[in-house]
Amino acid sequence: MIYLDNAATTWPKPESVYQAVDQCLRTRGANPGRGGHGMARAASLLLYETREALAELFGIADANQLVFTYNATDAISMAVMGLADPGDSIVTTSMEHNAVARTLRLAQSRGVTIHVIPCDSTGQLDMQAMAAAIRQKPKAVVMTHASNVTGTIMPVAEVGKLTKEQGVALVVDAAQTAGVEDIHVADMGIDILAFSGHKGLLGPQGTGGLYIHEAITVRPLRVGGTGSLSESDLQPEFMPDSLESGTPNTPGIAGLNAGVQFILQTGQAAIRAKEMELTGQLLAGLLAIPAASVYGRLDLLGRTAVVSFTLKGQDSGQIAHLLDQQYAIACRSGLHCAPWAHKTIGTLETGTVRLSPGYFNTQQEIEQALAAIREIAAQGG
Ligand code: PLP
Repeated sequence: MIYLDNAATTWPKPESVYQAVDQCLRTRGANPGRGGHGMARAASLLLYETREALAELFGIADANQLVFTYNATDAISMAVMGLADPGDSIVTTSMEHNAVARTLRLAQSRGVTIHVIPCDSTGQLDMQAMAAAIRQKPKAVVMTHASNVTGTIMPVAEVGKLTKEQGVALVVDAAQTAGVEDIHVADMGIDILAFSGHKGLLGPQGTGGLYIHEAITVRPLRVGGTGSLSESDLQPEFMPDSLESGTPNTPGIAGLNAGVQFILQTGQAAIRAKEMELTGQLLAGLLAIPAASVYGRLDLLGRTAVVSFTLKGQDSGQIAHLLDQQYAIACRSGLHCAPWAHKTIGTLETGTVRLSPGYFNTQQEIEQALAAIREIAAQGG
């Protein structure tokens, strides 16, 4: 099977990730922070080490400002719903995933005003409109770091400079970039960072994280036992405990730690270079198919390893079905949980076929995928 659906979740994982999950369940399977015995302490240490490793990766000065979540969606919900009050306004972009769009719609139903900044048909943000909106001093800008439909990387650092000047909080959805693109929260002016653990960070599903700048307080969505201040029935107000209630996904976090270690050892730049090489091959091959329309930027600048295309006269779902059934190629078709982005690039009616190579794909696999698409294109609509 050729797996080209890494934008949904990366697969396979490094061997060390499988081993770490297995080892954690076998040898560190106690409840972290909820006991003084050796195995509970070993589990707590694992959480501590993983928090530190993630903080190092993202340029976070105090690792306690980073909490573990179930995925990026969970992190975005926690950030937006814990930050926004009725009467606030939030600025966002027209390329957002439903993890942001639906969360903002929910906030809107509770009295928050939403202002969506347009992007062009390749997914590029209208920076002038963004700058003007930031000058209105909204409560926050909530935006993706890269589109999961076109791979377009957003000018987060540029936005971060403006939000800093105006004292506006910048909340970034790094689901598509964490582990692959450089993210330094301080340098980029990011106040809140939400990320998946199971995509570019190569960890298991059910992992993710949320960083919050120490000057910002986010109300907890979930409260309960934290293993700290057990004498009180009030939620601790200090991080990370204020936002981490209940038993965490310790085996998943063990796998996430192994994923981060793999990235640190391999080098994020090397991972990105490999993914870009495969993306270049994919783009060149698709652009040579006359019936194919490719969306987003057609070069390798400012993009991630996500390529969306359609074939003239053919249904995107049917193309993905044929790739799966006849060629054993896994990809994703449709709207990719991102109707705003598809509306922006003009594919809301048709959807697209999305191929997203990862570090473990090979040039030969990309060539096989291209050969399959050429055959499907030749069969016509
Ligand atoms: N944001 C973007 C841009 C995404 O691509 C995704 C997942 O595809 C998400 C958010 C949600 O991530 P998760 O599945 O980890 O909740």
